[in-house]
Amino acid sequence: MDRHQPHILIIYTGGTIGMIEDSETGTLKPFDFDHLIDNVPKIKKLDYAINHIQFQNPIDSSDMSPALWEQIVSYISENYDKYDGFVVLHGTDTMAYTASALSFMLGNLHKPVIITGSQLPIGEVRTDGEENLITALQIAAATDSMGFPMVQEVAILFENYLWRGNRSTKMSADNFNAFKSNNYPSLAKIGLGIHFNQEALWRSPSRRPLDVKPHLDPNVMVIDLFPGLTEGILRHQLHTPGIKGIILRTYGAGNAPTDEWFTAAISDAVSRGIVIINITQCANGGVNDGRYYAGDRLVKAGVISGHDMTTEAAITKMMYLFGLGLTASEVKNYLGCSLIGEVTV
Ligand code: ASP
Repeated sequence: MDRHQPHILIIYTGGTIGMIEDSETGTLKPFDFDHLIDNVPKIKKLDYAINHIQFQNPIDSSDMSPALWEQIVSYISENYDKYDGFVVLHGTDTMAYTASALSFMLGNLHKPVIITGSQLPIGEVRTDGEENLITALQIAAATDSMGFPMVQEVAILFENYLWRGNRSTKMSADNFNAFKSNNYPSLAKIGLGIHFNQEALWRSPSRRPLDVKPHLDPNVMVIDLFPGLTEGILRHQLHTPGIKGIILRTYGAGNAPTDEWFTAAISDAVSRGIVIINITQCANGGVNDGRYYAGDRLVKAGVISGHDMTTEAAITKMMYLFGLGLTASEVKNYLGCSLIGEVTV
């Protein structure tokens, strides 16, 4: 019997992996897909059927936006039945935001969506892009002993690890191992072989078909606490016109100043219907807001715990939930639950 030849769709959005140097300014700028693929002749050895789609104008991922996430999601949904897996080539700067957003937008995903990129352009001698691209393709094609896709979620492949997309954060601006998921184990370790961590892989409880939710509501913002934050600045932020949700980045186990004005400003915002979620500024661990008086005051003011969610997951989850047209109290309920493995509850 013929082996099924894996069909993979590469979606090229831009990022360092495909960049070349602008001869006038000396800066790196996104370039087209043909240039990128010409630099990886080894791909032909994989014996996969590979097609690609690219953004009309490939971007530095600093220009990523909810509208472009919708674009990526539509590329995947329109081609979902034709391919076994998808590889998204993306800049590293906002990769964790994109991975988180796609994980919420692609409901009932049962195929791999592997996002990768590189720290050095693919045309450079020491590039990490070639290896990342080839490994991402192999992971997108991998199946289990029953022939089902090994990875059935949105994941980031970078250097030696495969991470759950909505658990990942960019940790380094210059290390080849640029990403990490501090509160969840790696989905695979890449060494001489690709070693999957079966227990960590997401398996959807539903067998229903792909259910795309393309609309995101961007009326959310992040407020980072720091010693010296004044009442005037905080109140100004909390009165941002149109704002529906706020990610409050707190200290340690979810702590915030205990000044009366601080708690009053937060509870006033909550009573105006703004949803506020508590996310720790720490890279490891999560919010345990009942532990200290300084955290408990936020609970009493109506702030909900983000547990061990990343900031990237919390922002995109809020955009997704408000994008569904849910009320503030419905959004609060869902924020506290794990929708797609983004939080430990
Ligand atoms: N600025 C680039 C980007 O995010 C960085 C990278 O790709 O690593 O598009």
